[in-house]
Amino acid sequence: MNVIDFININRERYLDELKALLAIPSISALPQHAGDVRRCAEWCADEMRRIGLQNVRLIDTPGNPVTYGDWLGAEGAPTILFYGHYDVQPVDPLELWESPPFDATIRDGEIYARGSADDKGQVFMHFKAVEAHLKQNGRLPLNIKFILEGEEEVGSAHLDDFVRAHRSELAADVVVISDSPMFARGVPSMCYGLRGLVYCQIDLRGSSTDLHSGSFGGAVANPAMVLSQMLAQMKDRSGRVRIPGFYDDVVPLQDEERKAWAALPFNEKQYKKAFGLPKVYGETGYTTLERTWARPTFEVNGLLSGFTGEGAKTVLPAVSMAKVSMRLVPNQDPDKIAALFDTYVQGVAPKTVQVKVTRMHGGKPWMTSYDNPFVQAAGRAIEAPNEKLDVSNFQNGIIASAMLYEEIATIGVPA
Ligand SMILES: [Zn+2]
Repeated sequence: MNVIDFININRERYLDELKALLAIPSISALPQHAGDVRRCAEWCADEMRRIGLQNVRLIDTPGNPVTYGDWLGAEGAPTILFYGHYDVQPVDPLELWESPPFDATIRDGEIYARGSADDKGQVFMHFKAVEAHLKQNGRLPLNIKFILEGEEEVGSAHLDDFVRAHRSELAADVVVISDSPMFARGVPSMCYGLRGLVYCQIDLRGSSTDLHSGSFGGAVANPAMVLSQMLAQMKDRSGRVRIPGFYDDVVPLQDEERKAWAALPFNEKQYKKAFGLPKVYGETGYTTLERTWARPTFEVNGLLSGFTGEGAKTVLPAVSMAKVSMRLVPNQDPDKIAALFDTYVQGVAPKTVQVKVTRMHGGKPWMTSYDNPFVQAAGRAIEAPNEKLDVSNFQNGIIASAMLYEEIATIGVPA
């Protein structure tokens, strides 16, 4: 019997076990559930011990604990660091749930419960894949370290420090994160990149107080107008960002990626309908998926100036404000882009206003190259169950996880 047979034979009990995990209301955003969050961390630790992981323990952070477990018996094989989270989002509004959110219910072949798809279901699939290997073969084809976080839904405030503090213990050849959606139902998907962010606020001041347009209109600059004119200079007609140097470090799409993305079941008509778009928009020469996955952009997130109440007021506003952000792709550097943006804004601003640019939060873009052997291995793993078996997503997920370990093991440790 092989690992996949083991999974198929044991499939009946998996749902009941998953239900027990889903029944714990580990809502990290609500203080009254702190005990449940802790209980869930402990449930995961107990399960890790049951399936045969070693060195299992809760590692305290200033917030919720990280549940850790490993199996390091495959000498010479690669080491995976698996990341998942055991906390869930609040369930409001409760009346919109057809069944209680912490009492998992199966309807139309789907498991309904808070956390079933984010991220307890995925974590559980990896538990069962590990269990199948360890119970069937007494070993895993590679080494694995699990970290399960309890604060993902509240911003992962303590994760960076945790990783830094445990740097050597967490060392691995490849990180596996099972916490992103499928492209569409029945389309197993792998996310190998995420766009980064630079977020800024622009403040303009044209006078010390609001003025009356009857007395001053036409003689002083209007910060609302000036800001609109400045923002209009951020992109050209083809949708390209006009900040000089903005695209210098952008990694271009590979032909193979473009082909693979073009083959995805993406329907532009449905996309327009779903979001009420009269027409799609974006940088000329790229498809909608390419624009959102592989191209940087500039967006206005908020605009404020002058009188916005009911009726009319002939004010000439003293100030205007915009919140703007840029989505970045590899290898754009947030610090460099923020500096280029600041220089550009100062350059397009007329002398009639005072300009202040304040940088707010942000993040680096990330990508593993499409032809990376680990990415290719994951691709083979998610293809495998569909070719061989007709079982539900959940069962497929367990099998794909089990296959993933085998595929990664075949690559060996990178030089
Ligand atoms: Zn998640």
